[in-house]
Amino acid sequence: MSSAHNHVTTTVSFDEALTRYDPVIGLEVHVELGTASKMFCACSTEFGAPPNTQVCPVCLALPGAMPVINAKAVESIIRMGLALHCSIATWCRMARKNYFYPDMPKNFQISQYDEPICTDGWLDVLVPNEDGSTELVRVEIERVHLEEDTGKLTHAGGATGRIHGADYSLVDYNRAGIPLVEIVTKPITGTAALAPAVAKAYVAELRDIMRDLGVSDVKMEEGSLRCDANLSLNIPGDAWGTRTETKNVNSLRSVERAVRSEIERQAAVLDKGGVIRQETRHFHEDTGVTTPGRSKEEAEDYRYFPEPDLVPIAPDPAWVEKLRASIPQQPSLRRAGLATAWGISAFDMESLVNAGVLALVEAAVADGVAPDTARKWWAGELLRQANDRGVPPQELAVTGADILRVDELIATGALNDQLARQVFDGVLLGEGSVDDVVAARGLGVVTDETELLAAIDQALADQPEVAEKIRAGKIAAAGAIVGGVMKATRGRADASRVRELILSRCEVSG
Ligand code: ADP
Ligand code: MG
Ligand code: ZN
Repeated sequence: MSSAHNHVTTTVSFDEALTRYDPVIGLEVHVELGTASKMFCACSTEFGAPPNTQVCPVCLALPGAMPVINAKAVESIIRMGLALHCSIATWCRMARKNYFYPDMPKNFQISQYDEPICTDGWLDVLVPNEDGSTELVRVEIERVHLEEDTGKLTHAGGATGRIHGADYSLVDYNRAGIPLVEIVTKPITGTAALAPAVAKAYVAELRDIMRDLGVSDVKMEEGSLRCDANLSLNIPGDAWGTRTETKNVNSLRSVERAVRSEIERQAAVLDKGGVIRQETRHFHEDTGVTTPGRSKEEAEDYRYFPEPDLVPIAPDPAWVEKLRASIPQQPSLRRAGLATAWGISAFDMESLVNAGVLALVEAAVADGVAPDTARKWWAGELLRQANDRGVPPQELAVTGADILRVDELIATGALNDQLARQVFDGVLLGEGSVDDVVAARGLGVVTDETELLAAIDQALADQPEVAEKIRAGKIAAAGAIVGGVMKATRGRADASRVRELILSRCEVSG
């Protein structure tokens, strides 16, 4: 039986594997930059255009076409390198990586080889333990370099969409030449059972950093953030083992699953006295396992040499220092600081992040709203209003000042939470300021006791059996009358005051 057709994989359980082996991981992350134009030409980088409509002689590699480097891409990669605590080269060159594949019209890729622009950085990553606590793990960065993306091949006619069994292939060069940054970690050791979680947390942190820097839209599902996960196992105390490189890892969850399943597979091979082949592997989202790809046993000879059509990149150190001063604090550390300042748990912070309202809560707090109040509205009613309207919460036209005013009116008893919801609804529908909506919709809490008493008498008259029970001392029955009054006043009454008035009206004491 040929091994190529034998994809049935034996595994040992994850926990058992870790009793015998130490995992070493290495992550290669590609980030497609969000520059308006491509790396070496003026073509648009917009995603989703019809095939081959965003191409020109340069990115199609027509004879005589000359590349010109995109300054914005250089600025972006330097900012990325600075956020990852790298050294920034004062002088470096692009390199030609020679290989033939139809998605590369030039038959070489302009990349960087022995002169990467950013080197020797690190990133501290907060990794969740199984017990809910977190651990800070430092991931060392080997290099961050600039290159260009390839085109996209579509294999048609086959059942699987893969090249095997296809009748023909189509190529779209819209993506060819889009600026791409590759971030390569040093081998990450000593993480043991945390290895899958470290891999996932690292990629998540990179994604958040790139988003914060505004250098990429970092959408794993659209391929603007891609991860290859290297993994090897060794017996504790021995030298590192041979690594495999798992490709096609298209979501954060898959990063974690791919590392986990590769630990289980490699442990089974090693247990039986087998050897791990140095190869690329493909991760399958459906089955959660990896299958073998290309062998990397013979290192490919890319015949790298300095790109002769481009001048060297020599960023002015003063400019680099200016860029350094504009790097925002690392997202997870900033969030941890905010959680402490607001007195909330890491879990509460995560739910704000997941709901997509953290920036809105922060902005409201900056406008003077108490953190608890800002959280209450943004994670509650306002988020619900956004969902109802089918828009992201940041598109709601509610300001910190609006929340502040609603909160003031609640504090003075002029509004209650239920009325405040209607006020926000009016503000969102463009009915004016908080005070305008309160006035126009008549939403103030009824403080006039004669009006309340009239509503109470009406409710008691409407439900005589209930009134009888209350008079007989069953004060719990008052809830039904409170409900009737709230309905009659469209929520404009203070429920606890109404209850007091009902009891005195029925001459019983609460
Ligand atoms: P390649 O060109 O094969 O993709 P790179 O140097 O770009 O190689 O990336 C290799 C990745 O694998 C790096 O993140 C590196 O730290 C990691 N790595 C190297 N040796 C090992 C090993 N024995 N086990 C796990 N990861 C490793
Ligand atoms: Mg690589
Ligand atoms: Zn072009």
